[in-house]
Amino acid sequence: MKKSALIFAAAVSITVAGMAQVDPKKQTPESTEIWDPVPRVVTPGTASGSKTSSAPSDAIVLFDGRNLDSWKSSKNDGAAPWLIAGDAMTVKPGSGDIQTKQEFEDFQLHIEFRTPAKVEDEGQGRGNSGIFMQGIYELQVLDSYNNRTYSNGQAGSIYKQSMPLVNASLAPGAWQTYDVVYTAPKFNKDGMMTHPPYITVLHNGVLIQNHTAIRGTTPYVGLPQVKPHGKGPIKLQDHHNSTSFRNIWIREL
Ligand code: MG
Repeated sequence: MKKSALIFAAAVSITVAGMAQVDPKKQTPESTEIWDPVPRVVTPGTASGSKTSSAPSDAIVLFDGRNLDSWKSSKNDGAAPWLIAGDAMTVKPGSGDIQTKQEFEDFQLHIEFRTPAKVEDEGQGRGNSGIFMQGIYELQVLDSYNNRTYSNGQAGSIYKQSMPLVNASLAPGAWQTYDVVYTAPKFNKDGMMTHPPYITVLHNGVLIQNHTAIRGTTPYVGLPQVKPHGKGPIKLQDHHNSTSFRNIWIREL
């Protein structure tokens, strides 16, 4: 049997294992219907990326433009020192990273970002920020619209590891979306990583990371390091650029 056929056979046996065993000769259309459990009804959010967009009904809203109550300073656990204007929060350069008070494991995350309309720098200095999964693994935020830098450091990269499949960046000053599906790594009792973190990212609705394995930490200098950890926050980076965020919500999986 070919490898693909073996994988298919394994997948079928797992699927069928959950159903009542039926004599193959007596199978009917109904014998492969699953009626229980029933997927929950969720009211979708509206118009992702638009000014009037809203979160799905079962999401934890992390930022809706009103306050930073769900966030704290990563430096000192004090109040998150970033600025709020309109429906957005903006990095206060030099004030440090901020992170959610709540910690997460596997999740779907929606976040919108805007790099400064006035372009003042180039490369890594243009609208640089970042979104750290579990406070550790950086999904790069950058103005990558006609702005060449190293590919595994441009917008949508897993920083210094995996470049995005394509560059779906909008012009500076435009609101953009990341929709992330993330599963946390697993470690055995000796601290070895038995399953890496996986991340899937849509940038402005375009797939840019497709179930990408994250190899470890995402440092500026050096190779990824593997360190055992449990739940962690969503952390946003102060990279001394006035990048803004809005409409942030998360669904635990
Ligand atoms: Mg960054």
